[in-house]
Amino acid sequence: MIEFLNLNKLNAVYETGFRQKFEAFLSAGKYIEGVENRQFEKNFAKYCGTKFAIGTGNGLDAIRLILEAYKVTGKLQTGDEIIVPANTFIATILAISQAGLMPVLAEPELETYNLDTEKIVEKISAKTKAIMGVHLYGLISDWEHLQNIAHSHGLLLIEDAAQAHGAVWNDKKAGNLGDAAAFSFYPVKNLGALGDGGAVTINDPELAGIITQLKNYGQEKKYINRYKGFNSRLDELQAAFLNVKLPYLDKANEKRRQNALLYLKNIKHPDIVLPVFDEKSHVYHQFAIRTRRRDELKTYLANHGIETMIHYPVPPHKQQAYSEWQNLHLPITEQIHREILSLPVRENLTGDEINYIIEKINKF
Ligand SMILES: *Cc1c(COP(=O)(O)O)cnc(C)c1O
Repeated sequence: MIEFLNLNKLNAVYETGFRQKFEAFLSAGKYIEGVENRQFEKNFAKYCGTKFAIGTGNGLDAIRLILEAYKVTGKLQTGDEIIVPANTFIATILAISQAGLMPVLAEPELETYNLDTEKIVEKISAKTKAIMGVHLYGLISDWEHLQNIAHSHGLLLIEDAAQAHGAVWNDKKAGNLGDAAAFSFYPVKNLGALGDGGAVTINDPELAGIITQLKNYGQEKKYINRYKGFNSRLDELQAAFLNVKLPYLDKANEKRRQNALLYLKNIKHPDIVLPVFDEKSHVYHQFAIRTRRRDELKTYLANHGIETMIHYPVPPHKQQAYSEWQNLHLPITEQIHREILSLPVRENLTGDEINYIIEKINKF
């Protein structure tokens, strides 16, 4: 069986480092917001090239905290509209709703699965205040066009970088491309913790200060509350584990990219559309192929011992949670959800495994 992911094996190479961190954590007895958090924030900001990184409880909260902070400054107000790709993972959209803002779904491009910049302009209204660029499957969104649109319409440009740790565009890393960015360290992400975790990266010191308070009950110091805040801190132990893994992120991404390149060079099938290649701005969080025979292919591969996944089977506008969108017609998004299939691309996939998967796909 070729597993889609095997996190226990993938994390086994870091075990010595994890154990050392856990021993130190246990003897220090400082469980919340300790030295590992401060160290990780420093390390991750340096990695992304931003002035600040702020640890959060998870990726959804990281997005929400950015939006709540902009509400504190008055740059966003309840009911304002935020343009977001219709095919993103639901958390992007949930964060916008939870902050009392209106997600406006825009269709992606079939080639990149990221926002189609030509379709954004028609979604801009007087209430539009921001664009949420999601680097889906690890590919940086069409940032040049997004920047142009954001600048010419006076909109905030926020990154959901939860799938794109380490991706580079124009010599800048994901997380340092817009006004603020959100990351998730959910275990399956390219930089994954051993539990939940997230971060905001940002260059604006005022916003960074507000987010640092908002994530910690809105307090400016202990028991002095400036804002109606949240409890969404990065767990100290997860920060420690992330400090162990971060130095190896680029190497892991490079391995994913090599895997992707092997697939791209060798999969030859008239019914299968392959993703784009980019040696800098794609970190292949997922290697998502597309075919009208998706369900048939998934079963065929499973019968040959190859595990695949669907990211994602149901688009947000067809979820019961958003029944107000039941009548929205988003043909490109719906086609993607019908046809998309993710192949294993994890950094510990072996050459034999990749060759076997390629061989089976070509015989489909
Ligand atoms: C994983 C993910 C999130 C949410 O992160 P959590 O840590 O699971 O809350 C948000 N957006 C995207 C695109 C994601 O992939």
